[in-house]
Amino acid sequence: MRRLLAVTTIVSLFSFSLFAGDDKEKDPDQIGNRDVGKGLNWYSMDKEIALGKQLAQQVERNAKIIDDPVIAEYVNRVGQNLVRNSDAKVPFTIKVIDTEDVNAFALPGGFFFVNSGLILKADTEAELAGVMAHEIAHVACRHGTRQATRGQVMQLATIPLIFMGGWAGYGAYQAASVMLPITFLQFSKAFETEADMLGLQYMYKTGYDPEAFVDFFEKIESLEKKKPGTISKVFSTHPPTDDRIVTSQKNIQEYLKAKPEYVVTTSEFNDVKARLAMMHNKKKIDQKDDGRPKLRRAPGSGTDGGSGSSGSDDDRPTLKRNPSSGSSSSGSSGGNNN
Ligand SMILES: [Zn+2]
Repeated sequence: MRRLLAVTTIVSLFSFSLFAGDDKEKDPDQIGNRDVGKGLNWYSMDKEIALGKQLAQQVERNAKIIDDPVIAEYVNRVGQNLVRNSDAKVPFTIKVIDTEDVNAFALPGGFFFVNSGLILKADTEAELAGVMAHEIAHVACRHGTRQATRGQVMQLATIPLIFMGGWAGYGAYQAASVMLPITFLQFSKAFETEADMLGLQYMYKTGYDPEAFVDFFEKIESLEKKKPGTISKVFSTHPPTDDRIVTSQKNIQEYLKAKPEYVVTTSEFNDVKARLAMMHNKKKIDQKDDGRPKLRRAPGSGTDGGSGSSGSDDDRPTLKRNPSSGSSSSGSSGGNNN
């Protein structure tokens, strides 16, 4: 009996010391006063930044970066505000990629890309900030290079090859969202859990309602169930699962003392979303025009369809009616004159 007591004492002492370290990471008041990036890492900070910069250049060569100053400035400002309220020790470069994939990814060293699709799927600025804060946490924790250090010794040497080879076979948009070296973006469950927890703290400290992170997760989860493929491949390597939602809710209740007021959204967010939606709609109409059988357009309505938006609106229902009206086979193949 006495021996058993001794054993439990040792165990509880041990676990206490473990939790003592954890507590500092769970306390949002400690943001900036702790080293969340510590851990086995072969990369010096300089090397990490150089690596991230090199990867970022690859992304920028192959993706379409949105240069609309209103959108770019806004997303950068939201991000930098979160970075200032985080444990990150590197300066961040934040850019928006023009693609509908719902995703955001931060490369080692603070090179951060936000897809326009993510902004469009978010209903509030706080939802966008939640995902961005999660990515900032990955960088603050140096998850990319720590993961590379951990287990991928052999793969590390071949990363540039995988990377270069991957780009060649794909179109620009696909390349940007799919062909990043997965080592630096696909994290262990423990790293995801850590980034979830710290991301909540960063958005909370910045003034956002941390519940927005959970809301967005739930929304994406239900979207993905309704329409699989909503989430890009990279995002699906750390999907919004039920246990991440439950853990996040628990972290909010236990460690983030409710504030009287939170930022939920801003009119700027709505403006930026509207701007992006306009860009995407225009792109969609252009793509539809391109794919349309040339035969159908010839009579006259099609020639001025590109100039006026009302004209292209009128075109759309006509196109949908085509298959059921009987002449579907000639319509879809387009080139058949007989
Ligand atoms: Zn993550």
